[in-house]
Parts: sequence; C-alpha cells; structure tokens
Amino acid sequence: MALRFTSLGSGSSGNALVVESGSTRVMMDCGFAISETKARLERVGLAPSDLTGICVTHEHDDHLGGVARFAKRYAIPVYLTRGTSQWLPEDFPAVLVRYIDSHTEFAIDGLAIAPFPVPHDAREPVQYTFSDGARRVGVVTDLGCITQHVVDKLSGCEALVIECNHDIDMLMGGPYPLSLKQRVAGRFGHLDNAGARHLVECLDRSRLRHLIAAHLSQQNNTPALARRALALAAGCEEDWIGVAGQADGFDWRDA
Ligand SMILES: [Zn+2]
Ligand SMILES: [Zn+2]
Repeated sequence: MALRFTSLGSGSSGNALVVESGSTRVMMDCGFAISETKARLERVGLAPSDLTGICVTHEHDDHLGGVARFAKRYAIPVYLTRGTSQWLPEDFPAVLVRYIDSHTEFAIDGLAIAPFPVPHDAREPVQYTFSDGARRVGVVTDLGCITQHVVDKLSGCEALVIECNHDIDMLMGGPYPLSLKQRVAGRFGHLDNAGARHLVECLDRSRLRHLIAAHLSQQNNTPALARRALALAAGCEEDWIGVAGQADGFDWRDA
C-alpha cells in the first residue's frame, strides 16, 4: 500500500500536512480556520470526513489554532502531549482527546507514528515520523536547535519535510525588533537555512527520495535560499528540493 503525503500550507500563518496510507489519513497540525481547512483539503481531493485523526506538535497558533473547532465539528480524535493539551479549550470533548507520550510510538490503524521531543519555546513540543512499515516520512518544523535525538529519529527516512525558517542575515538585517530576532534565532526558536543544511548533513540519507523545505518566513527567507541550503546538504540539484508554501503547501508525493 502506498504511503503518500501532502502539505495544505506551511509557515507562521498556518500549518497542516496530511499523511495517507490506504484509507487512513492523519493530519499533522491545523493552523487554519474551518472553512480554510476545508477548502485546502478539497484542493488535494479530500473532505474532512476522510481524516482519521489529527496529530498536534505544540500549542502555537499556527499549529493548534484551527484544531479544536475542526476536530469538534467533524468528530476527529486529536493526538497530543499532556503539555500541549492544556491549550485545548475547556469545552473540547474529552472523548476526542488521545494523550501521547513524547517518546512512545503509537498507531492509527496501519500507520505507525513516532513522536519525538524538540527544543522549542512551547510547553511540551514534539515532531513526528509516519510509517506504513515499508517507508517513513519525517517532519520537523519549529526546531530551535539540532539534538542527537532528532538526528536519530529522522535518519533513514524516505521523505523529509524540514524547517528552513529564515536566512540569518535577512533576519538580523530585517525589521523585527531585537527581542523577536533573538527569540527566533535562539535555541528554543526556529531553524535557519544553515541549521537545516547542517541537520540534513548529519542524517543517514541513504533512503532519501524527497527533501522539502517548510515553515519559511515570508519576511526573512526566500524559497531560492532554502532550496540552495538543502541542495548543498543533499548534494543534489536545487530544483529537486521541494518547498512547502504558505498559500499552497505542496501536492501529494508518494513516499
Ligand atoms: Zn510554527
Ligand atoms: Zn512554534
């Protein structure tokens, strides 16, 4: 059975990614309003009722902001750490909550999902890999710095979606106030292009078939700079590198 994945959009204005194996479809994060999420799902041929579950990474609005209303409206279970769950609204139906442990793999039907903790300025943030047993998709956005654990978890994946948040010179020379620059570039902030390059260089890439830059800052990065950084890491042509756009994400890819 094929394992495939698509992004509905990525960046600080909202993130959502869907992984599919057979009739199981898991959405990772939802930072969009209900109508927007529905429209973006339609674009990739899906309806809300096609989703089996939603896995949340952390409480920041661009990831959790659309989850509760969407999950409640369509009665979709939400998988998240206890730390992240504190940001669900009080009236969110307990019957839809599935607590996960940040170090313990779990399954949704035939899809094996491995969360792993990441350094980021949130209560209990995780990122995920998804596997159908044959192939594995690894996603990491909102990564303050690279840890050996992150390297171990992402090594050997067929597909990687990696944060390329900013170009450090564009960030530092840009209009953000100093405190925000320091937060974004800090060890609990976001990975820049050079950091993403270093992360990919550290990974076992022997099975890698897809490499996609995600969570690009509209203000402090360009798709060309992100592509170049990842292409240097992977030793490939720049146009082989995918970019997850804020407006349009990226189309289905077979892992
Ligand atoms: Zn984010
Ligand atoms: Zn975040």
